[in-house]
Amino acid sequence: MQAIKLAIAGVGKIVYDQHLPAVLGNKDFELVATASRNNTIDGVQGFRHIEEMLASRPDIDAVSLCMPPQYRYEAARLAIRAGKNVFLEKPPGATLSEVESLRELAAAHAVTLFASWHSRHAPAVQVLKDYLREHPPRQVKVIWREDVRHWHPDQEWIWQPGGLGVFDPGINALSIVTEILPEEIFLRQAALEFPANRQTPIAAQLSFTDAAGTDVQADFDWRQTGEQTWDILVDTGDAHLHLKKGGHELWINQAQRELPVEGEYPSLYRHFSDLIRRRSSDVDVAPLRHVADAFMLGQHIVTDPFI
Ligand code: NAP
Repeated sequence: MQAIKLAIAGVGKIVYDQHLPAVLGNKDFELVATASRNNTIDGVQGFRHIEEMLASRPDIDAVSLCMPPQYRYEAARLAIRAGKNVFLEKPPGATLSEVESLRELAAAHAVTLFASWHSRHAPAVQVLKDYLREHPPRQVKVIWREDVRHWHPDQEWIWQPGGLGVFDPGINALSIVTEILPEEIFLRQAALEFPANRQTPIAAQLSFTDAAGTDVQADFDWRQTGEQTWDILVDTGDAHLHLKKGGHELWINQAQRELPVEGEYPSLYRHFSDLIRRRSSDVDVAPLRHVADAFMLGQHIVTDPFI
């Protein structure tokens, strides 16, 4: 079978760290072009703007859109209208309505739209999901605490409307929670802490439940220095489960489980290739919906300026 000719738009941190090695390691894809105002990839034809790339390279089959979420919709619309299959980095857009609009557009143009959630492809996630199908959870505690200065140096977009602030990493936790829990959850209460000089929150405490009354608490914080925490603790009554390191370790009653070895981005691209071959789409907005709910229902607290 012929390789899928892939282009990447919005070349930056996540492209160099993850997309590039994953694509180069997957024979289903051939990376043929990039569209990015300032950055390029060695040996790959580079364009400054996606319009120019789409016009010059009609042979492109698929485009991965890796710019910040506030700038993704317009690029996605252009790519879909040009008949390309589209991979959206997370979060899939700046608003839920944008993503719905793209879903309809992709269906009308019969192309694949993939709203990716990389943390769902961490190796512990499907193992934990399978376990919880047999042993429903009673209590879930999410602790997602990291150092924004370390992970997002010089990224202004995270502090601007649509950049999500601490929900940029927090949505990864929500993407796991919405994947593993057998019931749909909904937000009951939230408190969001906004630095006095910023547009997006630096911390959030969320309290969810579901139809079965499961207690789901989440603690997101961007002010943690030293050891970083990306943990989900689940109590099923007969077992304590501990997903650690964002889904790269799973402990059940203090015993570490063996996990598959495939990385998140290789797994994402395997899924994207499969969707394209099957001519189907995968667009789940649940994690973004919970974030929108938090902005809508949450108490807004002003905290120390972030310098
Ligand atoms: P980034 O490096 O700040 O931005 C990626 C690229 O987008 C930039 O290099 C820039 O390339 C382009 N861009 C920036 N502002 C733009 C604008 N106003 N209009 C058009 N293009 C613009 O961000 P990132 O860390 O790679 O994150 C990008 C996306 O990946 C985000 O949605 C993020 O949540 C997701 N993600 C990031 C990570 C991570 O560890 N960083 C992990 C997983 C997912 P040009 O200047 O060359 O156009």
